[in-house]
Amino acid sequence: MGVRENLSKISTLALRNRRQGLTKVLPPLGEVLRGSLMERYMTCGNPDCKCARGERHGPVWYLSVTLDQSHRTGRTVPPEQVEQVRRWIENYHQVKERLEKISDINRELLRRQKNKNKPRKRTRR
Ligand SMILES: [Zn+2]
Repeated sequence: MGVRENLSKISTLALRNRRQGLTKVLPPLGEVLRGSLMERYMTCGNPDCKCARGERHGPVWYLSVTLDQSHRTGRTVPPEQVEQVRRWIENYHQVKERLEKISDINRELLRRQKNKNKPRKRTRR
């Protein structure tokens, strides 16, 4: 993820407009997939095959998904599904990025709300 923008200099109205815009450009939420699509080149085990001499078979596409720190799952993806899987993964990243941006804006708006409700008291010494 890139460098986070400093939102503190942007007006509340502009932040609200931006948030509104971010909710409108979301990809379809039903078409997301978390994971990485990887290319693999395999050997078939036949010692007389060209793959035994380094010309491996492939690509075989593989979807790899991290479940938690110690668990990972995945499966091969048939060629006719590769484009769809690629698009859904891209959608996932876009949705995640938008949610992060909306979340940043909301954190900033909450901070302003709090400052408005509780005007600064003079510090006593
Ligand atoms: Zn082979």
